[in-house]
Amino acid sequence: MQDLHHWIDGAKVTGTSGRFAEVYNPATGEVQARLPLASKDELDAAVARAAEAQKGWAATNPQRRARVMMRFGALINEHMDELAELVSREHGKTLPDGRGDVQRGLEVVEVCMGGPSLLKGEFTDDGGPGIDLYSMRQPLGVVAGITPFNFPAMIPLWKMAPALTCGNAMILKPSERCPSTSLRLAELLQEAGLPDGVLQVVNGDKEVVDAILDNETVQGVGFVGSTPIAQYIYGRAATNGKRAQCFGGAKNHMIVMPDADLDKAADALVGAGFGAAGERCMAISVAVPVGKETADRLRDKLVPRIEKLKVGPYTSGEDVDYGPVITKAAQERIERLVNSGVEAGATLVVDGRDFRLQGYEDGFFVGPSYFDDVTPDMEIYKEEIFGPVLSQVRADSYEAALNLIIDNPYGNGTAIYTADGDTARDFAHRVNVGMVGINFPIPVPLSYHTFGGWKKSAFGDLNQYGPDAFRFYTRTKTVTARWFSGIKEGGEFNFKQMD
Ligand code: NAD
Repeated sequence: MQDLHHWIDGAKVTGTSGRFAEVYNPATGEVQARLPLASKDELDAAVARAAEAQKGWAATNPQRRARVMMRFGALINEHMDELAELVSREHGKTLPDGRGDVQRGLEVVEVCMGGPSLLKGEFTDDGGPGIDLYSMRQPLGVVAGITPFNFPAMIPLWKMAPALTCGNAMILKPSERCPSTSLRLAELLQEAGLPDGVLQVVNGDKEVVDAILDNETVQGVGFVGSTPIAQYIYGRAATNGKRAQCFGGAKNHMIVMPDADLDKAADALVGAGFGAAGERCMAISVAVPVGKETADRLRDKLVPRIEKLKVGPYTSGEDVDYGPVITKAAQERIERLVNSGVEAGATLVVDGRDFRLQGYEDGFFVGPSYFDDVTPDMEIYKEEIFGPVLSQVRADSYEAALNLIIDNPYGNGTAIYTADGDTARDFAHRVNVGMVGINFPIPVPLSYHTFGGWKKSAFGDLNQYGPDAFRFYTRTKTVTARWFSGIKEGGEFNFKQMD
C-alpha cells in the first residue's frame, strides 16, 4: 500500500495530524493508498508560506507567468498517458475517458498561455478636462480550490491554471478519494518553473475545508462538488468576507422531439447517461421524449444499446464502456435508489441490479439501469443519482417538456434533439439552464468560453475558466488621474545656472 503526502513549498510532506483516509481501487474494492488528512495547524502554516511566495509570483510579469503555463502544457502532453492512468487508477473510469479528463483540463492551461491579454485593464482618455481613468486587474493573494472526485485532473486544472496565471498563490484541496493526479500535477508545475510555495496541495476532509474557510489570509474560494456542500461552503466563505464561486450537483434533461434523428438521439443518450458510470455533473440522467410514439420508438432503440454496454475495469483494455463507481457507499446508494424507483411504480426496462463482474466481485460495479414512465414526484427523479441510471419522463408536448426542465431545481446542463431550428432556438432562449446542447448531449463549453450552471447548480458569481475566471481571480483597481500644468507651459527649458 502506498503512503501519500501533501505538496508544500515544492516538496512532498508527510502529514502530522495522525489522521488518514483510505484511497480505494474501485475496480477491486481494495485499499491502495493511505492519504494524510491535514489539521487546521498544517493548513494555516501552508497558507502563511503561500502568502510569502505569492508576493514574488505576483511581481513576476504576466508574460513570464504565462511561459510557466506553456511549459506546464508541454509537460502535461508529455505525461498524458501517465496522468490518465493515475486518474483511472483512483477513479475507475476507462483510460480513453481518463485521457479526456486530462485533455479538457489541458485546454484551460492552453488558454492561460495567452492569459496576459485577459489581464489587461481599461483606459478612458479625457474622462474630464485633463482627467484619465484606468483600471488594472490585480491578483487576490492566496486563493483556494476545493475539488470533487469525478474529474481528478480536469477540475483541479480549471482551478489552478487561471488562478496562478493571474498571479495568485493557490491552496488546492483535492478530493480525498482521488488525490494522486493533483499531487503529480503539482510536481509538473514545479518542473515548469512555478516557484515553490505558490501551489500548495493540502489533502484533507471537512476539517481542512473549514480551516480554509476560516483562514483570514485566504481571499477567494473556488469549489466544485455536491449541492449541499457547495451551498454550505458559499455561505461560510461569504460570511468570512471571501469571494466564492461554488458549483454544485445536477439533474440534466434531454428533450427528444418527434422530428429528431432517433438513432443519433439514442446513441447520445447512452454515451451521456452511462459514460463514466454516470458520474459526471453534465451526465444526461433524464430523457424527455415528446409524444407517445417518440417515447416508444426511443425506448426500442435504447434497450439494445444499453443491454450491450460493457462494464469493466480500466485495465481490461479500451473496449470497456464504463468502469466502477467510486465507493461501496455510492454503489449501495445507487442500488437503493433503483429499488425505490421500482417501488414507486416506474417501469424498470433494463435492470442493472445485482450486476457482479467475475473476478471483481468486491469491485464497486453497477450495471446499467433504464427506467420508463418516471414522474417528477419520484425519488429517482428528484435525486441526483450520480450512477449508471437513465430515467425516461414522457411529455405530451414541447411546452410540457420545457416546463419540466424550467421547474427542476438544478440548472447545470440540458440538451434538445430536433431537426427544427425554430424549436431549438426557442429552447435555447427560454430554458433556465447554464449550458445548452442542440443536437449535442454534453455541452461542456470550450475553454475560451466559460462553464457554469444556474439555480442550485451554482452559488456565487462568474463561471469557471475562460474570461470569467480571470475576473474571479483578480480584483479591479480603478485610478482617476489628473496632472496639473507642468513644464510644457512655461517651465524652465534651459540648463539652470547656479547662483
Ligand atoms: P462532495 O461535495 O462530496 O465533495 C467535494 C469536495 O468537498 C471534496 O473535496 C470533499 O473533500 C469536500 N467535502 C465533502 N464533504 C464536506 C463537508 N461536509 N464539509 C466540507 N467539505 C466537504 O462531491 P463529490 O462526491 O466529490 O463530487 C460529486 C458531486 O460534484 C456531484 O454532485 C456532481 O454533480 C458535482 N460536480 C459538479 C460540477 C460542476 O461544475 N457543477 C462538476 C463536477 C462535479
